[in-house]
Amino acid sequence: AKEMGNNNFQFYAREMNASVEEKLMLLEGLRGALDEGQFHLLYQPKVDLRSGLIFGVEALIRWEHPEHGVVSPLRFIGLAEESGLIVAIGDWVLHTACRQNKAWQDAGLAPITMSVNVSPRQFEEKRLVERVAAALRESALDPGALELEVTESLIMRDLAQSVGKMRELKAMGISLSIDDFGTGYSSLSALKSFPISTLKIDKSFVRELADNTDDQAIAMAVISLGHKLNLRVIAEGVETEQQCTFLRDNDCDEMQGYLFSRPVPAAQIAALLEEQARM
Ligand code: C2E
Ligand code: CA
Ligand code: CA
Ligand code: CA
Repeated sequence: AKEMGNNNFQFYAREMNASVEEKLMLLEGLRGALDEGQFHLLYQPKVDLRSGLIFGVEALIRWEHPEHGVVSPLRFIGLAEESGLIVAIGDWVLHTACRQNKAWQDAGLAPITMSVNVSPRQFEEKRLVERVAAALRESALDPGALELEVTESLIMRDLAQSVGKMRELKAMGISLSIDDFGTGYSSLSALKSFPISTLKIDKSFVRELADNTDDQAIAMAVISLGHKLNLRVIAEGVETEQQCTFLRDNDCDEMQGYLFSRPVPAAQIAALLEEQARM
């Protein structure tokens, strides 16, 4: 029994080492990734459920590691947060996304909204509002063509300060949306003080939407709550026709998901917008 315990311990220790090692390896690489130009953005269309037209895109970061290939943001955004690197990376995302949206407009494509994810440390950083203003100035993008996606857990960390910042951003003409709605705990009464325009139903509620009556109830409740608060409601992670039909039948405004398109490079967004303009 003792032997087995030892083996178990060794097994355990090895597992833990592997993940600590992986973390260190990623962190090491992350420090130089920006200077080495290893990041790029993909863009996922957001579609109006009534017209079927693309009205915006969400920018999603990708890291091309020289040895390990493409690393998912799920693996490095947390590390970037912990280490503080997220502020510089987030700045790069903002500038790149704003410049890209301006480039599409300059190419004569129909104007769309660019949504950028903002993580907690980035949002809490003192100069966030100035940083966003700098990205808009540098790219000459109209603030109305930029949206920031923030999570409810982020806002609830310091409600008064978050709402203050959100008001400043809104006053600049930028839209705000609550990402992953329903997964954090926010008080519903706090929701009415958020100067937001959109609620995003998290994909965990969409996955089994076709046959899970609990998920159906949650989706319908979010849609009706959003509409009563004069917000638009978008669902993410829409992969099937059944999910899409349920959302449309229940008056959801917008959708995003593999059913319409995966996140794609900028050139493919331009092609989709051109195709849309010919319809
Ligand atoms: P998120 O903001 O909730 O983004 C949605 C995620 O769902 C994205 O994963 C997207 O590629 C994926 N997705 C889209 N459609 C579908 C679908 O139909 N089915 C399924 N199963 N998944 C779908 P991704 O790109 O791996 O990003 C993961 C998370 O990393 C994001 O979750 C966001 O929290 C974070 N992230 C990504 N890019 C950035 C960034 O530039 N800055 C910050 N701060 N966070 C980012
Ligand atoms: Ca998002
Ligand atoms: Ca989500
Ligand atoms: Ca998220």
